[in-house]
Amino acid sequence: MTDLLVCESSGECQLKESLKSSGHSESGAATLDPGDWSSFRMLAHATLDDCIDYIASVRERPVWQPVPGEVLATLRGPVPYRPTALPALVEEIRDKIMPFATGNVHPRFFGWVHGAGTVAGILAELMAATMNSNCGGRDHAAIYVERQVIEWCREIFGFPAGGSGVLTVGTSMAAVIAVATARVSRLGAAVRADGHTGTGSRLVGYSSAEGHVSLRKAFELVGIGNAQLRAIPTLPDHSMCLERLAAAIRADRAAGLEPFLIIGTAGTVNTGAFDRLDAIADLAQHECLWFHVDGAFGAWAKIAGHPWQDLVRGIERADSLAFDFHKWISVPYDAGCVLIRDAHRHRAAFAERPDYLATGARGLAAGDPWPCDYGIDLSRGFRALKAWITLRHYGLAQLGRVIAKNCRSAVYLGKLVEESEQFELAAPVSLNICCFCLKGARTIGSDDAVITQLAEEIQLSGIAAPSTTRIGARLCVRVAILNHRTTDNDVEMLFKSACEILRDLN
Ligand SMILES: *Cc1c(COP(=O)(O)O)cnc(C)c1O
Repeated sequence: MTDLLVCESSGECQLKESLKSSGHSESGAATLDPGDWSSFRMLAHATLDDCIDYIASVRERPVWQPVPGEVLATLRGPVPYRPTALPALVEEIRDKIMPFATGNVHPRFFGWVHGAGTVAGILAELMAATMNSNCGGRDHAAIYVERQVIEWCREIFGFPAGGSGVLTVGTSMAAVIAVATARVSRLGAAVRADGHTGTGSRLVGYSSAEGHVSLRKAFELVGIGNAQLRAIPTLPDHSMCLERLAAAIRADRAAGLEPFLIIGTAGTVNTGAFDRLDAIADLAQHECLWFHVDGAFGAWAKIAGHPWQDLVRGIERADSLAFDFHKWISVPYDAGCVLIRDAHRHRAAFAERPDYLATGARGLAAGDPWPCDYGIDLSRGFRALKAWITLRHYGLAQLGRVIAKNCRSAVYLGKLVEESEQFELAAPVSLNICCFCLKGARTIGSDDAVITQLAEEIQLSGIAAPSTTRIGARLCVRVAILNHRTTDNDVEMLFKSACEILRDLN
């Protein structure tokens, strides 16, 4: 066979040559299993030890460091036609890739909204990769594990029996599934066939101006367009102004448009603010609109006890809820989830089984319904296992204690900010995020350069890794605390370095 390869490029010639020289041209000789299981076993054990050391010694390393030029050079190379021995590759990963990670396993990583991962998650990933299950459907254990995880979440967030869900890459894809379900729910199955042009729909939806960018993308992807997602102004506590929301719905109806969806946020990305979910649920009910909640990380306040759990009141009344496992409950990337109140509506938006995906009454093709009936992905990995092991091993009580601890650390940082001479709070601390800016009223934009440089210098120091955002008109340092390893002492170290670096900048 390989002799028939025509060399159209030098790469193909190399391929042909290496196929010959490695003796793989004989049919049946090619497999990807190791020739020698015992040396693979030794390598695998040593690799696991390296991984455990990496986590156990995380505090001894800088939070983040840029990838050095010489490492970047070794990470570039030609298409690998020829094999490389596994020990060499494992060493390369350990020495050239792992030291230059994002840093979110480190207790002083405070940027964006990044989860920390756990050791239980490492084991689940290893075992899931071993099984290599395809969780699009069919009748096998992984599907039952995913159903169990969804069932637990349904109960945790107070959704009724008869609700459904599916694990996703993250909250962004969960939002796409929720918006698509809301759309089919409003327009009927015809929209799946005819699209928006065919149905002549004039749908509009609403979220707060603090809503996540993924919501806009969801509107783009389902063909409604992000201009039809109204950004409702917020109150001083950064929650959506419900009077403005009601007014926008009235105005859109008067203009002949068709409001169909209100999105409440449980924990905004900028400040961790909560929309008043209960009141939004009332309004959505009154207006006959779908009520979706973006609870990416904030939904988990539900398990953190008083007073945090009170913030999510009303979440159980949502028609759909999107949240992540990979943020605040530390499941390794990536794992999110969407719950839909009414499984029939959920299926109506996605189920479609051509002959090659027919369900059987018995055998491997049984086990209806399949996850592919609830979303877009057909081939899907066994994400549920790492969520399952996390929920079971740590238990909700311990996961909730970590969340409450993070919230208290944010309050503590808020106190340090308020007591300082250089900084002031840019927004109230409502959950686990503390945003601070330079003290004193300044003209708009005048602080931008200093704040940008300050955040960069802190990151480059290796001591901590905050990010930045704009609150109102002012750029600020944003510290989001989601890491189960983070202590008040870590928060103090971050703040001390911010004060010192600012002093040096001035
Ligand atoms: C992170 C986040 C998202 C997006 O979730 P991904 O898991 O990153 O796709 C949406 N909304 C909020 C509030 C978030 O914090």
